[in-house]
Amino acid sequence: MTVQETLKDLVAIDSVSQRSNAEIISYLARRCEAAGLMITQLPYLDDHGIEKINLVAQTSVHDSAAEANSTLELALAGHTDTVPYDPAWIEALRLTENDGKLFGRGACDTKAFISAALTAIENTDLSKLNKSLALVFTADEEIGCLGARQLARARPFSARYAIVGEPTSLQPMRAGKGYCLAEITIRGREAHSAYPQIGASAIFRAARLIGLIEQISEELKHDQRAGFDPPYTTMNVGLIEGGTAKNIIAGECNLTLEWRTIPGQESEYALDLVRQAAADLHQQDADFVCEIDAARADESFETRADSPLVQFLEVTSGKESGTVAFGTEAPSLIDLGAEAVVFGPGDIRVAHRTGEFVPKDQLNECVRILQHAIRHFCM
Ligand SMILES: [Zn+2]
Repeated sequence: MTVQETLKDLVAIDSVSQRSNAEIISYLARRCEAAGLMITQLPYLDDHGIEKINLVAQTSVHDSAAEANSTLELALAGHTDTVPYDPAWIEALRLTENDGKLFGRGACDTKAFISAALTAIENTDLSKLNKSLALVFTADEEIGCLGARQLARARPFSARYAIVGEPTSLQPMRAGKGYCLAEITIRGREAHSAYPQIGASAIFRAARLIGLIEQISEELKHDQRAGFDPPYTTMNVGLIEGGTAKNIIAGECNLTLEWRTIPGQESEYALDLVRQAAADLHQQDADFVCEIDAARADESFETRADSPLVQFLEVTSGKESGTVAFGTEAPSLIDLGAEAVVFGPGDIRVAHRTGEFVPKDQLNECVRILQHAIRHFCM
């Protein structure tokens, strides 16, 4: 089967994150078994009680010391789920070709990479490999990389190198910022606004805290990592809500704080500075009360520029490595021991929208590069 035929099959299987991915996994398991790979399915139930499955399909390499502790030389990882599609996009599940582009939900993110990885394996004589290799297909990436985290906890393998499929227009991406959120609730005391002295404004209090958060975001600029734009951890109070009426002293104010951490800085670091600021305000005014609820902490990641995988992909793609601004499964693969690089056909800017597509030439080029990677690292 050609890579394009495989992509057509994968796009035809509806695998939005809200559904079980059992159907696409059973398709991929069949193809991997036919290619001579050993299959391990790792099912789990998501928060809604729906079965999700991670699939590990690996080569068997005999008499290899690496196999004894199941260290893979190379893992090619891609997520099987997609974001939802507008019902008005009637061809969302039908791969459509136009002007050298292949359209369909998931065609770009990330079924193109999965098709390329599968084709690369099918085009390789696996009996010639000296080191082990696996295809890793995950669930629930689009709703917070949940499948990959599950995999990192289950530890069915460790890997030396991992290529994490995401649309990067075939540019190797060796680092990415983390993504963290916290909900902050500041309490006050309601009163008639003609008599502010008998109440306490949650909004005035929030303003004091926000002033300190702005100072913290200035301090964070001192710790810099080259290769990022901007090269430091950024902070944003993106949402604020408080008060009930113009003539009521506000009893409560809520903020949503977001920060994007540079690699090497714990996601807690910035939040601890905010907690300290809140503690200082409490010190000055015992009545100042705020609750900080850390809602999300996606880790940053970084693979060394001189990693053999980074250098290999730079040479074969002809593109210098860069950094990604979006969340990926790379931190989970790094947890599993790997030097991880995010790489794949298609442009992230056309993903997640009606009419997402992958350019045909990039899809075919990805097959070539992955085949070359398999030979380079596993023969
Ligand atoms: Zn993706």
